[in-house]
Amino acid sequence: MSSETMKINPQRAKQLLENLTYATQRISSLNPEKPVRLILVSKLKPASDILALHQNTTIPATHFGENYFQELSEKASILPRSIQWHFIGGLQSNKCKPLAESIPNLWCVSSVDSAKKADQLEKGRRALMEKDKSVKEKLRVMVQVNTSGEESKSGVEPKDTLDLCQHIKDECPHLRLSGLMTIGAIARSQATTAETENDDFICLRETAKRVVGEMAGVELELSMGMSGDFEGAIKQGSDEVRIGSSIFGERPAKKDAIVKDEVKGQKG
Ligand SMILES: *Cc1c(COP(=O)(O)O)cnc(C)c1O
Repeated sequence: MSSETMKINPQRAKQLLENLTYATQRISSLNPEKPVRLILVSKLKPASDILALHQNTTIPATHFGENYFQELSEKASILPRSIQWHFIGGLQSNKCKPLAESIPNLWCVSSVDSAKKADQLEKGRRALMEKDKSVKEKLRVMVQVNTSGEESKSGVEPKDTLDLCQHIKDECPHLRLSGLMTIGAIARSQATTAETENDDFICLRETAKRVVGEMAGVELELSMGMSGDFEGAIKQGSDEVRIGSSIFGERPAKKDAIVKDEVKGQKG
């Protein structure tokens, strides 16, 4: 199966485009001064949803975010190369090298939280660039910061962020450190509006400021804001929001997710 044979339901495409239009307008009205990147978080949603958005001719939609290596891998193999993929989910060390090596249009890995994982991504990207000369850019990476201090959250502690950033800059020539990412505490997220300050976003901004102050010639984007709190995140200086459910609707359980819709007369 390839994107040419993928069926797109016109009703569904219309709905998705409406949701995208609404989100895009909200984002630009919140900070007309600065373009904020919108990552469309498509995890557990079918590839046909991604294609429908990517192919629309009204609003450019190239940045898509996924959380699971296997799922991303499958989607990337059947969807157009013009998609810019972001890996935003929890990273397993043993998946880092294959992730970076096998997906030429992987644009950014947003969830780096250890030097070991950075080193594996470095190995993978280096191998990819050696065998595929059409891949010319370094792989962007963001360091995920655990701004809420919750044990359940991945990410480095704010105080350890500088060391990891320094490691990536010094030891990983095929990676480009592009920013810091946080998810933040759910309760704070739920209390966030365009008018309130969210402590996780303050923490990420302050951490970035400190790192930039210590490292010469580094600029760091802030990746913060999801469906429930992106308005506040943009007000607090976010450069990139990651929005899933307000575009694609509620997600199914992982075990029920379907990447490829059945197409008549065609095998999986
Ligand atoms: C799932 C996910 C999102 C999107 O969440 P929504 O609330 O559906 O917008 C954003 N960031 C990360 C890291 C995620 O895992």
